[in-house]
Amino acid sequence: MYRHDLAEMDLAELEQSLETMGHPRFHARQLYQWVHKRAVTDFADMTDLGRDLRGALAEAFRISTPEVVRQETSSDRTAKVLLRLEDGQLIESVFIPDTPANTFCLSTQVGCAMKCGFCLTGKMGIIRNLTAGEIVGQVRVLTRELGMLQSRFNIVLMGMGEPLHNYDAVMKALRMLNDEHGLAVNPRRVTLSTVGVLPALERLATEPLMPNLAVSLHATTEDQRDALVPINRKYGLKDLLDACRRFPVKRRERITFEYVMLKDVNDTDEDARRLVRLLNGIKAKVNLLPLNEAAGIPYERPSDARVNRFAKIVADRGVTVSVRKSRGRDIRAACGQLITESTRLRSPAQQLAALLPIS
Ligand code: SAH
Repeated sequence: MYRHDLAEMDLAELEQSLETMGHPRFHARQLYQWVHKRAVTDFADMTDLGRDLRGALAEAFRISTPEVVRQETSSDRTAKVLLRLEDGQLIESVFIPDTPANTFCLSTQVGCAMKCGFCLTGKMGIIRNLTAGEIVGQVRVLTRELGMLQSRFNIVLMGMGEPLHNYDAVMKALRMLNDEHGLAVNPRRVTLSTVGVLPALERLATEPLMPNLAVSLHATTEDQRDALVPINRKYGLKDLLDACRRFPVKRRERITFEYVMLKDVNDTDEDARRLVRLLNGIKAKVNLLPLNEAAGIPYERPSDARVNRFAKIVADRGVTVSVRKSRGRDIRAACGQLITESTRLRSPAQQLAALLPIS
């Protein structure tokens, strides 16, 4: 018999569903707490619900939960978890401790359609969107596996996928995570990172539950960005920055501009000065991401001296700048390194990545 997936339901949908089945609505809150706050997925263990109700629920619902295939912990305590979804697709989620908060890095798609020239996930292509329940499911699994059900954590949507290319599921997931009967994650603890899918970015600007925004800029001219971030050919740098200028940023908050640093490509003093000029009039901070090199990626990481010189030029002109410390590189959990072998599709890049020794 077909059972509805409770993991996909927000609280209102769950209430509605119980009511349709002839059960009191208030049980929805109890159920939501069991699933999200306590990571319990067996109805038999939901001890504050009557035995008959538990039986009826087990017949009507399933609670799909990503299955942990493998967990790797890096020397810096970063943990990468490989998860298998109900249809067999694989995704990765990362736990990054103390930066200064504990942070979960979540995937929003299986693969990614954006094809940024320096990103391994992009090499996979897009396989499918994640559902809201699968995005939230990563948090349910991570909190359970890492013993963090009682802990505070931040969330960055910086795993596999482009969150604004899967808008509805991402926003529903944020609402589900925010629910006070679940984990009550404040949207201020969530950062959504995007290449700048403009119509979706404009829509995000009107959301009641607004995460922090990070924009993957990576270039300072249209030509340069066209080459590195192909979606720039459709939604260009200038329009993206104009949208950022209009974006409602709360008091004392800023938009983060991520800038991957590629040796001799976008790392010159002139790039640094141009970057500052572009960000004029935007409440911005810059996060430099020295490239995480990988086989199949035709770029090199600049020297630390070059990165520091670039950072100094930006800082001297009054823009806050930080250099992202690369975490979990020994387990290939760092930015742009999330790639999984799928049972259905295995691209040449994936095959290559699977053969490589972990550096
Ligand atoms: N699609 C979203 C979410 C991915 S976030 C986005 O692009 O913003 C991951 C961040 O890591 C992005 O800024 C991405 O451009 C960056 N990144 C990708 N590959 C990288 C690499 N090899 N080295 C360093 N950063 C990389």
